[in-house]
Amino acid sequence: MAQGKINVQTENIFPIIKQFLYSDQEIFLRELISNAVDATQKLRTLAQLGESKANVDNLRVEVKLDKEAKTLTFSDNGIGMTADEVDKYINQIAFSGAEEFVQKYKDKASVIGHFGLGFYSAFMVASKVEIITLSHTEGAVPVKWDCDGSPNFTLEETTKEGRGTDIVLHIADDALEYLEKSKIQQLLDKYCKFMPIEIKFGTNERKEKVGEGDDAKEETIIEDNIINNPSPAWTKLPADLNADDYKSFYRELYPMTFEEPLFHIHLNVDYPFNLTGILFFPKLKSNMEMQKNKIQLYSNQVFVTESVEGIVPDFLTMLHGVIDSPDIPLNVSRSYLQSDANVKKISKYISKKVADKLEDLYKNDREDFEKKWDDIKIFIEYGMLSDDKFFDKAKGFALLKNTEGVAKTMEEYLEQIKPIQTDKDGKVVVLYTSNKEEQYAYISSAKDKGYDVVVLDSPLSAHLVGKLEQEYKDTTFTRVDGDTIDKLIKKDEEIPSKLTEDDEKKLKPVIEAAVPKEKFTVVFESMSETDQPFTITQSEFMRRMKDMSAVGGGGMMGMGNLPEMYNLVVNANHPLVSKILNESEAEKQKSMAKQATDLALLSQNLLKGEALSSFIKRSVELIN
Ligand code: ADP
Repeated sequence: MAQGKINVQTENIFPIIKQFLYSDQEIFLRELISNAVDATQKLRTLAQLGESKANVDNLRVEVKLDKEAKTLTFSDNGIGMTADEVDKYINQIAFSGAEEFVQKYKDKASVIGHFGLGFYSAFMVASKVEIITLSHTEGAVPVKWDCDGSPNFTLEETTKEGRGTDIVLHIADDALEYLEKSKIQQLLDKYCKFMPIEIKFGTNERKEKVGEGDDAKEETIIEDNIINNPSPAWTKLPADLNADDYKSFYRELYPMTFEEPLFHIHLNVDYPFNLTGILFFPKLKSNMEMQKNKIQLYSNQVFVTESVEGIVPDFLTMLHGVIDSPDIPLNVSRSYLQSDANVKKISKYISKKVADKLEDLYKNDREDFEKKWDDIKIFIEYGMLSDDKFFDKAKGFALLKNTEGVAKTMEEYLEQIKPIQTDKDGKVVVLYTSNKEEQYAYISSAKDKGYDVVVLDSPLSAHLVGKLEQEYKDTTFTRVDGDTIDKLIKKDEEIPSKLTEDDEKKLKPVIEAAVPKEKFTVVFESMSETDQPFTITQSEFMRRMKDMSAVGGGGMMGMGNLPEMYNLVVNANHPLVSKILNESEAEKQKSMAKQATDLALLSQNLLKGEALSSFIKRSVELIN
């Protein structure tokens, strides 16, 4: 038996490992199982190269729980280690890795996922660790290493049947939860669900009927509980999978989700970096924030994290699915990750793949694409706003839907409305509504005049409209209540006003007195007699600023408190307006103006509280 001291500068490394990683303690399981999986895969490679005569037909890892002995054991029938190898890989290399890690990250909290701590992470939960191992090489002697968390270890010959390694953790008193079957099962589910070698954890019982008729009896069949699927869909070629395979993989990933995804994108690249994966476009629910962090990041089928910020472009973090790349540096801080050149390339690649896929869907089956549009538009709009390359592609397939539900691309739409919706400066005016219900009156007035109105009702619309105006130079977007239609769009002949300048001067103070002065600016417009007598509009510019600050636009900080300002547009040609003007009795004139403007406010949902009550009272009196 050999005894020795691990060569350490930091005497007390184990308490540090333990304390520092407390919150991520559970990753010990991933580390030990991936070592075991690596050991089996190494052996397979050696066998393929003819460098080992070992039989590699039944490579497997097993996790065993012994509650009484308080041990958790990870066994593999992989490559194994000789005494020299244990000394080299465990006493020297592995330990210095752990030590270096602790030195480096002692004061940093922001370390993600994979710690590169490997084998020594076992000491986060174990008071003593044993390695019992037999190398695959001919004539090898089994050895046992053990260490109680101090730098002292022993290494001695032992007996072991069969090649491979057992790592035995004697679970520490403050980590007894790791002796619970359900806890281990849950961690295996989280970290090992798609590891590439079968992992066994206990057995399952199953009842099965055997025999026919009177001879029939029930037999209990005991099967190995294999916790993983060693060849998940993303490791296969797209050509070998059909639509159902993707759907069942989705259910495998999210057993608790009943909704089916809209479509998927299979990622597969090996140059200039390695990356595979499948992304799903889910049906979105209203709360966008809740939906983030559903993409799982793997490294060679080992689960790393659900936080893919930086790796996946921000606008795609609402997608679901899996990304697997051995090229993403995992043992570094998040800020480093975001500046890493490889990671940037990956993010760009994903963005491009998504744009290509959407373009394909649009080109191959436009009808179906239109059907899906409402579910995917939020991604696309977000992407168009945050990623110029994506914008360039997406503008070709991004759709505008009008109030009747007819969908057009931007170019098609501009072509359609150009002949009738061009203003006096030659700009094509896109009329839009952010709320079909609330802006009903404006929409129908626009339609009466033969104009078309598109629906832009997502939280990003205000931003998007600005972006589209930059792109399509001779185009301007105006919300239907942004200005009166007559003012917006050039007409062949102007309607002459029935009011003289003097009339307007006389009437203005009467109207002004009828509405809260600080909120409304009274303006006269010469419109058709059949238009509304009074209309309320809101400057497109002001409203956009407000909308943008509401969703947190850049540089809009503190604009959330912009006052609400409206125009009260008086139709100079409406008979009611002349009637108010010509009313000689002051009291009567006042109440007519009040009643008429209140109606306009009411139609905009702006009449509230006391003003609303007195309007109703006044109306009742008028009927009487
Ligand atoms: P890493 O896996 O990052 O190399 P570890 O600390 O996890 O670092 O492991 C150190 C080394 O110990 C491994 O590289 C491997 O050579 C050896 N090793 C660990 N576990 C096993 C095992 N189950 N079978 C064979 N070798 C192992």
